[in-house]
Amino acid sequence: MSGDRQQADDYDLIVVGGGMVGAAIAAALAPTPLWVAVVEARAPEAQPASDGRRVSALTAGSVRILKGLGVWQTVAAGDTEPIRAMTVWDGDQAGGVNFEAGEVGLEALGALAPNGTIAAALHGATREGAHVDWFCPARWTTLEPGDEAVTLNLTTEGSERTLRAPLAVAADGRDSAVRQEVGIATGGWDYGQSGLVAEIRPQRPHRGRAFQRFLRGGPLALLPLSEGRCSMVWSLPTSRAEGLLDLEDAAFGRRLQQAFGPDLGELTVAGPRAAFPLRLQHARAYARNRVALAGDAAHAVHPLAGLGLNLGLRDAAALAETVAEAHLAGEDWGETAVLGRYQRRRMPDNLLVSAYTDGFHRLFGGDSEALATLRSLGMNLVDRAGPLKHLLMRQGMGLAGLGRGRLERGEPLA
Ligand SMILES: Cc1cc2nc3c(=O)[nH]c(=O)nc-3n(C[C@H](O)[C@H](O)[C@H](O)COP(=O)(O)OP(=O)(O)OC[C@H]3O[C@@H](n4cnc5c(N)ncnc54)[C@H](O)[C@@H]3O)c2cc1C
Repeated sequence: MSGDRQQADDYDLIVVGGGMVGAAIAAALAPTPLWVAVVEARAPEAQPASDGRRVSALTAGSVRILKGLGVWQTVAAGDTEPIRAMTVWDGDQAGGVNFEAGEVGLEALGALAPNGTIAAALHGATREGAHVDWFCPARWTTLEPGDEAVTLNLTTEGSERTLRAPLAVAADGRDSAVRQEVGIATGGWDYGQSGLVAEIRPQRPHRGRAFQRFLRGGPLALLPLSEGRCSMVWSLPTSRAEGLLDLEDAAFGRRLQQAFGPDLGELTVAGPRAAFPLRLQHARAYARNRVALAGDAAHAVHPLAGLGLNLGLRDAAALAETVAEAHLAGEDWGETAVLGRYQRRRMPDNLLVSAYTDGFHRLFGGDSEALATLRSLGMNLVDRAGPLKHLLMRQGMGLAGLGRGRLERGEPLA
């Protein structure tokens, strides 16, 4: 149908969920002739305050994708801070590793950007092209996969609409209703932990360094934000996280100081706290009945390596590119064979990252002396072993997981 729309509600692609991953898919396809509908439940102004202040560590690989989407300049001009170095150390032992961007010939390992800035830049890119329609706030009521198209009924601002497309994408997050509707099962488990987030103002300058301390209850990260501030992500057993959520700022600051130590001087709480329950989850398949999964709808990982959104952006790049290539080749991009190509591009990387973040969680969450000694030995070894350290850095920066797609090279699709 592309380029020559027959009916108002016929599209080439329907994306359910206009979060960062859904918006990235639409932004990637905006310069192509394909018509995209994005169905988003939440009105922009309905973001809870704590959510609006959430930030994401973007790997160097994601920065390349955002360049390919034409939005990196906008993201970088926002409240975004480069991560130039990282210190990882064990709460119990002397072992630690220092990663410096210069060691692998780069200026930065990645960047820390507010989710609101990334989302706004992606939304902006979908408005510049004439081929993306947003239905927001909107909720789908029925989803019917057919032989040639998926039909989605939705309600938006009191009226009912029917959208049709050869393919629908579930980018509706970890509890994806679309994934459940098409019957794609997931595997995984709850970590019994929550990620507690807050903005912190340290007494000493962070100088672009990210800090991650592995404590018995879970990792505590302080990541560099602009104007000397830090973003805290502290993974803890859920009952402890809830207890810390209830404390007054000053009392919480003291607990944080005890847990983090003196490296950044006195730590002052500078914003509201929020806690997010953590789960490992992976879909058994990435497509079924003309519906494909992307982002958290396909996989959720522990935030200890800050990789969830980075994986989602790689999904968005690969899916948009698979669809655009199929369109150019005159193929039906909702067909199983085409979507199988997308799954083969993304599933190995997502599974690998899920496995190693889970492995780190177990290695660093264990209480035994033997594990503590192993951790310390391992970190000291990595710190001294150049090639192994550089391999880990490339993996952590999202460069090892990148394919050979145009967006992953920082180039637009069209
Ligand atoms: C504490 C914490 C820290 C994290 N830190 C990092 C980090 O530093 N780096 C990183 O890469 N990742 C990080 N992550 C992971 C990252 O936040 C997620 O991977 C990312 O937000 C997933 O994006 P998404 O667009 O797939 O899903 P979501 O952000 O969940 O977006 C889904 C969208 O779909 C919409 N929606 C839901 N249901 C419907 C429906 N029925 N109809 C229409 N729309 C619907 C929602 O309103 C939402 O806009 C962190 C996660 C946590 C919990």
